[in-house]
Amino acid sequence: MRNVLIVLSGPSGVGKGTIAKLLTERNENLFLSISCTTRKMREGERDGKEYFFITKEKFLQKIENNGFLEYSSHFDNFYGTPKQFVHEKLEGGDVLLEIDVNGGLEVKKNYPSAILLMVVPPSIEEVRRRLISRNTETVEQIENRLSRMEYELSKKELYDYTVINDDLLTAVAEIEDIIKKEKSR
Ligand code: 5GP
Repeated sequence: MRNVLIVLSGPSGVGKGTIAKLLTERNENLFLSISCTTRKMREGERDGKEYFFITKEKFLQKIENNGFLEYSSHFDNFYGTPKQFVHEKLEGGDVLLEIDVNGGLEVKKNYPSAILLMVVPPSIEEVRRRLISRNTETVEQIENRLSRMEYELSKKELYDYTVINDDLLTAVAEIEDIIKKEKSR
């Protein structure tokens, strides 16, 4: 069985963070990659846990040094997947990247064997509710995220799999089946 690189994308607020957390808790050989970002730390977040929080200068330097598998910017902040971190983790097991659609497509260019998985919401209204109840952002930021969502969903056909997050455990089980199948190819 080969070790696989799995990209988990989908609009923000769709619940992919929860899915990623459950997947890594239930599968001890699956590592969640930690991205670098220049955005501010939210309450409850820790450096080296949710992200490596670095300065813009450091981020730009890392781009220069070809240190990212992919990177992009949203809402005036940079996000990137550290190349070396992923390579090291792939030697010991499967790796999960929780990144946006453009990032996922970029990864696929460099690693055609990467599995692109998009988590989609049962409805846009459901996402709005989740974002509001998360209570970490302003109404304007939430509206930005919702328009971004339409863009992300428009790229669905370029992904290998689409999973609807209606029921959390069903979505997780579906993803586990996909990973199992892909590992034994
Ligand atoms: P948030 O600020 O809510 O943590 O993340 C904002 C967006 O950045 C999400 O859509 C998230 O998936 C994306 N993101 C997080 N890490 C990376 C990364 O390493 N690369 C790319 N391209 N997007 C990322």
